[in-house]
Amino acid sequence: MAMCEECSSFVIHLQQPADRSSLHRDLKSVTALLRSASTCDLCNLITGTEFNNTKDTIILKTCDPRYYLSSDQSYKEKAMTIGGRINLDKEISEVTVSISTNFGPFHAYLDVWESPDDQTSSRARTSRIRKSPPLPNDESPRSFAIIRKWLATCLTDHTKPRIDKWGQIIANTICSIPSATKTRLPTRVLDVGSCESDSVKLVITQNELGDYFALSYCWGRISDTTWQTTRSTLQDHILRIQLSALPKTIQDAIKITREFNVQYLWIDSLCIVQDDKDDWLREAGRMCDVYGNCQLTIAAAGASDSTQGCFVSQRREQRPITVRTNPSEDDERFQQPNCQINFASASLKRGGPSDGPLAKRAWVTQEWYLSKRILFCTIGGYSWKCKTLASTERRWGGSNTGPGRNQA
Ligand SMILES: [Zn+2]
Ligand SMILES: [Zn+2]
Repeated sequence: MAMCEECSSFVIHLQQPADRSSLHRDLKSVTALLRSASTCDLCNLITGTEFNNTKDTIILKTCDPRYYLSSDQSYKEKAMTIGGRINLDKEISEVTVSISTNFGPFHAYLDVWESPDDQTSSRARTSRIRKSPPLPNDESPRSFAIIRKWLATCLTDHTKPRIDKWGQIIANTICSIPSATKTRLPTRVLDVGSCESDSVKLVITQNELGDYFALSYCWGRISDTTWQTTRSTLQDHILRIQLSALPKTIQDAIKITREFNVQYLWIDSLCIVQDDKDDWLREAGRMCDVYGNCQLTIAAAGASDSTQGCFVSQRREQRPITVRTNPSEDDERFQQPNCQINFASASLKRGGPSDGPLAKRAWVTQEWYLSKRILFCTIGGYSWKCKTLASTERRWGGSNTGPGRNQA
């Protein structure tokens, strides 16, 4: 299959974003789109993609082209647009397709990226389209590279306060003070050991300074509590805690901490003696310091209990369509070199930190408020929040340029 004229024009524009912040064009009607889908790759991809609004999902291929019949409503098409959300400082990593209906808009998202290995043209590559495909899973080396880069950027670049548009300093917007000494470790921390190790151990600190992460998560209704630290397991835990005995959320948090090469992790159920009332009251009173001083809070935001894990994002299998952007080198509309651009139905469901089960717990808002930096693990993938940067892996996209000072 080839591409229809309208899709070809759109792809050219996508490669050459003009000096404006968004790129939209009217798409043909759903009926025409469905007809075009038999001969155009991109139209075909769009018709097979899920369109969502807050309540419903429709797939055009299976719908009556005039009315999109869903569970209890009949949606009538009003308008249809396709657009790239373009910020000239950033890469283009997704395309939004919208259908306006009598009951409000439906949106679908397409991931877009240029094939990184395509070097067919000798001309300079100036396209802003992302060069790397979407992440294959939460635990891939590329995923970990992104989250490590967020922290590294925060520690080394976020050392000055943000400035507002009138040139005034915005208070309380410095993330990192380069000369700051390390903070005092909490009373007890987990020593996560090396990536290969199948165990961790509990360390009782003695006013040492150091970097540590903390976990923010839902316990949920757990029947098995034998893995927690109690008066009877405390001595065993100082010697060794077998990873396989721990709930998945805790195992995943240990894995993330190891990926950052940080030695210590604080988790309430292991670092506070659960059946010692005095210990519990004393340590609970220090919680503000624990979250306020930790280098990073890992928020298992997509899990409603401790068995579900941090790695919960729902990624779609990538089956991209690939279009060559300049079939004829002589076509003067193409100022960009020939290259391969890939489109796939967006691999991540929408779902930010505030949509997940964890955000509904009152104490959690306090943990998040106290933390300097938070890595959110959500069904929509990873996202990051510090005083300077709010970003998601979709926006960051694994690029080397990264977002600017982006307030998502
Ligand atoms: Zn088309
Ligand atoms: Zn920061």
